Amino acid sequence: MENLSIKCRIFFFILSLFFPSLLFGQTILIDPGHGGNDLGAVTKFTRKLDKKNSRIETIYEKDLSLKLALLVKERLSPLFMVYLTRTEDYPVGLHDRALMAEKIKADIFLSIHFNSSTEKEASGIETFYLDNHQDKAVKKVEVVENVGIESGKEEDLVNHILIDLAIKMTSSSSKKLAAMIHGQSFKYIKKKYAIKNRGFKPGLLYVLALSKRPGVLIEAGFISNPKELGLLKQENYLETYASGIAEGVKLYFQENLTKSRSEIPKKRGQKMKSH
Ligand SMILES: [Zn+2]
Repeated sequence: MENLSIKCRIFFFILSLFFPSLLFGQTILIDPGHGGNDLGAVTKFTRKLDKKNSRIETIYEKDLSLKLALLVKERLSPLFMVYLTRTEDYPVGLHDRALMAEKIKADIFLSIHFNSSTEKEASGIETFYLDNHQDKAVKKVEVVENVGIESGKEEDLVNHILIDLAIKMTSSSSKKLAAMIHGQSFKYIKKKYAIKNRGFKPGLLYVLALSKRPGVLIEAGFISNPKELGLLKQENYLETYASGIAEGVKLYFQENLTKSRSEIPKKRGQKMKSH
């Protein structure tokens, strides 16, 4: 069984080099967080123009999330069918983002965000998958990223039922996806930059619940931390992060495919025995 699995991995790895489209027929929906009048987190910094002059500039999470999402799309498009929930700066509701996932029958959903905190020293990258938890710090992230859902009693009830169902349906696959995306992202980034690894963790994020498929919400750094903001503004940091995310996605599908293919002979064998 072990040998078969290794042979399968080698076979599909070689196949993927020559015929990538045969191997990866999956559809991916990338969701750049916020947009339009939903700015997401906002921060200001002083840009020095010359020795005497400087200018105050504003950075919006919505712009960074779109930038990173486009870079991820660029890397995944040769292998997968890749769509974005928004391609420019306009608002998209959480329900509409999820509806899009349904419409295109996405296999996975990747929501991209940047973190912010009132504590200036808070820093690092983290990846969330949908599941229950009791972490107070995660609850703060939920408050920010769940904006856009009506909070009437009826909706709350519907959301709770929906979240429970979505957790049952997706949490195990989403956890694997989060582990691979986060693991690869951190591996890529730490080669070039000193960044804190906040890990991959459960969170009750509505956009993941509403999409009803394996998915993650990536918090790709703190725009509220001046030192980290310096990294986030660099094209190379975002490119490196995007490469890590893309690698994690490839590994996730490779693993799933290898697993399902290696189960075929076993099932056939069992069937022949019973005859
Ligand atoms: Zn956000």
